[in-house]
Amino acid sequence: MNPFEQIQSHLSKAAATLNLTPEEQAVLMEPQVKREATLTVETSKGVQSLPAYRIQFNDARGPFKGGIRFHPAADQNEVTALAAAMAVKCAVVNLPLGGAKGGVAFDPKQFTREDALLVARAYVRAFAPYIGVDKDIPAPDVATDAGLMAVMLDEYEAVVGHKEPGMITGKPIALGGSQGRATATAEGGAMVLAAYLERAGIAVDSQKVAIQGFGNAGAVMAKLLHDAGYLIVAVSDSQGTLYAPQGLDPYQVEAIKQESGSVIAAADSEHEALPAETIFTLPADIIVPAALDNAITEVEAATISAGIIVELANNPVTPTADEILFSRGVTIIPDVLANAGGVTVSYFEWVQNRQQYYWSEEEVRDKLRAIMTDSFRAVADIAERRHVSLREAAYVLGVERIIEAMRLRGRI
Ligand code: NAD
Repeated sequence: MNPFEQIQSHLSKAAATLNLTPEEQAVLMEPQVKREATLTVETSKGVQSLPAYRIQFNDARGPFKGGIRFHPAADQNEVTALAAAMAVKCAVVNLPLGGAKGGVAFDPKQFTREDALLVARAYVRAFAPYIGVDKDIPAPDVATDAGLMAVMLDEYEAVVGHKEPGMITGKPIALGGSQGRATATAEGGAMVLAAYLERAGIAVDSQKVAIQGFGNAGAVMAKLLHDAGYLIVAVSDSQGTLYAPQGLDPYQVEAIKQESGSVIAAADSEHEALPAETIFTLPADIIVPAALDNAITEVEAATISAGIIVELANNPVTPTADEILFSRGVTIIPDVLANAGGVTVSYFEWVQNRQQYYWSEEEVRDKLRAIMTDSFRAVADIAERRHVSLREAAYVLGVERIIEAMRLRGRI
């Protein structure tokens, strides 16, 4: 299955549970608007023609919202899948926003930072008529960051001729970014995990955790869980896995990775360096995929020893693996809930920009906790009532809310 077919399979399961008519299903399953452009950018390596996308999946609940990724493999299918997941995610955590996503087929690792800034500006010029504070609000995603959001804001304001900080989120704090945005995805994931363990009657103390990916999402998650009393037994990055059955200190590992480039540079008599692909074969109670799409296929699903998977990455478990894991009694806290802390604090940023009044980090964290724990409760209640997985329950909740808005608007 390609990425969009995977999301459609989740959407159609929810549609069947909700007894949607074929017409309603058809409207739900396709993006409202698919925008494409070719960006012509004069880079340090000469003029480049770069395919660029903005897929606006559904705006029944509010303006479109979704990040922009720079990746050589970005294409319409992948961006559409991510846009659909954004629509569901915003609805699951009950934000007054729709779902969208953007992408440019561009590999920033092959170019200079100045080139990436020019691509960011070109993207905004291409899509400026269709984005904006009340239309469609972009944000960072893979290989885009706060600095690129800053120049995108600058370019947009030059095009429209007025200040509009809420047209984009994930900005630097100095330009209207929110406190807590950088750590929000992992914070939200940790909050949902804590709520799950409390409901299941499982004590946090010494739960063994293995985390794939030691970047923005994975490294912050490792530190938060370590501080909360979990035992981090393994972390990995693209170069390898670091395994310590007695537990490792993620702060130390982070310092070593910053110096030497990989978590495996921290290997010693108590920390074993293993190949990257071993991360899910190690004994653990909880695993956290925080790196790649489709990291857990039927191969990993058959042997994973953990009872809980927290999906900080988008789409890390294939639909076949999902079914195998459910039948094996493994609980998956799905991406549309587990990593929704990021878009939730993006929403807070948008609210603060509109008010021109800014909140403290503590205020942001308290509001985030309220949304994540309420959303977890709503999803877990549906899962219990309908005897379905948390993923199916989350899709049922999200789709039900989107469909309600579409019905009220008379679109279906
Ligand atoms: P990042 O680029 O900061 O980190 C990615 C990490 O994955 C790096 O440590 C990299 O070395 C590692 N990695 C790459 N290939 C690997 C492999 N084969 N095995 C093990 N590790 C590997 O990215 P991020 O922002 O942390 O995002 C990670 C995932 O979380 C993505 O799926 C992203 O869509 C999702 N996500 C992130 C956010 C956010 O706010 N950062 C929000 C929602 C979802």
